[in-house]
Formats: sequence, structure tokens, C-alpha cells
Amino acid sequence: AGMESQYLEIRDLVVDFGGFRAIDGVDLTLFQGDLRFLIGPNGAGKTTLIDAITGLVPATGDITKSGTQLLGLKPHQINRAGVGRTFQTPSVFDNLTVTQNLDIAGGAGRSFWNRLRARHGIPEIVEQALETTGLTHHRDRPAGILAHGQKKWLEIGMLLVQDAKVLLLDEPVAGMNHEERVETGELLRRLGGERTVVVVEHDMEFMRNYATSVTVMAAGKVLSEGSVAEVQNDPRVQEVYLGT
Ligand code: ADP
Repeated sequence: AGMESQYLEIRDLVVDFGGFRAIDGVDLTLFQGDLRFLIGPNGAGKTTLIDAITGLVPATGDITKSGTQLLGLKPHQINRAGVGRTFQTPSVFDNLTVTQNLDIAGGAGRSFWNRLRARHGIPEIVEQALETTGLTHHRDRPAGILAHGQKKWLEIGMLLVQDAKVLLLDEPVAGMNHEERVETGELLRRLGGERTVVVVEHDMEFMRNYATSVTVMAAGKVLSEGSVAEVQNDPRVQEVYLGT
């Protein structure tokens, strides 16, 4: 797999809700290793864009991953193609342990996964996810008693167990304290390399510290794109942020 193999390419994406055009011709190219922040005022279309990529809302245009068309596929097919997402509110099984949650995400119950488990115990990919997310010491605790931040990291771990190469994270540091934010930033950096991470976030300080590139949306379109410094110095960006 070369540098070009994992990227996501979006062309002329349009999402209509009845008569309202929430996504109005978006082009976006994501490269392997990107830690791309997606920002913009409320209602800009950030969540709808993630929903369209993951097949939750109908759209027109093109969404390709390494040349494979994702648009029109069902959410589970898009997930299987290596695109995973988290939501603003963490959704884990509170009564199951951290390891059990990861096991389920990986496919516990499916025959392939069960055979793997019977032969080798906890699959290596689960161990790796525990380590990457810093949850190894919490592996046998029920997810319900984890701190808010740990739950959000567990969700990211669940994407890793699914071998997601494109991770779409909706407000990963919402509700977190300072220490948890720093831990999350470092986790996002660990995810880089062969993966692509898209972060929808309102926390501008967090963005400045961790983004490798930024896309600014407004009114369903891409308003500006570039490095943190480039978008911050873009008068069009200053206008939408001061104007709202
Ligand atoms: P953001 O995530 O940037 O705050 P959203 O993607 O949530 O923006 O919303 C973009 C626009 O689409 C908003 O004007 C919102 O009201 C509208 N919208 C989102 N979902 C729906 C829906 N299911 N039906 C109708 N309008 C929607």
C-alpha cells in the first residue's frame, strides 16, 4: 500500500433535506496521515457531511476511498470498507467490560471472529486497541463506570478493532477536562501514520495544537482550506466567525 492508497476523495457532494440544500457542492481530498479538522459555524453542514460519508443521509456526487465508490453503499458496507465514525455522545455497552466492548466491535458472535478467539484468545487487534487508547489498565472494568473521556477513547478503540483507516470523530473533546483533552490530542497523533482522521470540533485551541490541516465550512460549502495559520489569516474565515 503506497501513500495514495488510503485517501478519501469527495467530489461535488450535494445533500438536500426537502427544499433545503445542507451540503452544496463540497469537494474534499483527504490524504493518508492527515489529522484534518473540520470547523465552521453552527449549521455549516459539518455533521451532515460526516453523515453523507457514512451513508446515513442520501447524497449525490462522488465519495471514493482508494478509488472505490462509497456513495450509495449502506452504512455497514461503508464501515467494512474501512470508514468509521464516532458520535457526539459516546455509545458503548455500559454493562460490558472494555475488552468485551472491543470484542463486540470486532465481530464477536460472527463465526470468523469466534474461531479466531477460540484458537488464539483475545485477538491481537484488541490488545493493540487497548494499548493505543491507553485503556489497558481498565480492560476488565465495565464501560459504565469509566470516566467520560475514557468512554470516548473506548469508542475510538472500537473503530480501531474494526480496522478503520478513515476515522470521522464528531467533537471528540466535548465535555472533557484539560488533561483529557491533552490525552485525546496525543491519541489522535498516535492514530496518524497509515490512517486519516477527520475531527469536527468547536474547540479552537485544541485545533491549533493538533490539526495538520483545516477545512472551514459555511452554509454547506467549503469556505477555506489549508494549514491552521492559513485559515486563521483568511479574511473570509474571520468574517464568518466574527459575523456569528
Ligand atoms: P453543523 O454540524 O455544521 O452544525 P449540520 O450538518 O448539523 O451543521 O446542519 C446543516 C444544516 O442542515 C442546518 O441548517 C440544519 O438545520 C440542517 N439539517 C440537518 N439535518 C437535517 C434534517 N434531517 N432535516 C432538515 N434539515 C437538516
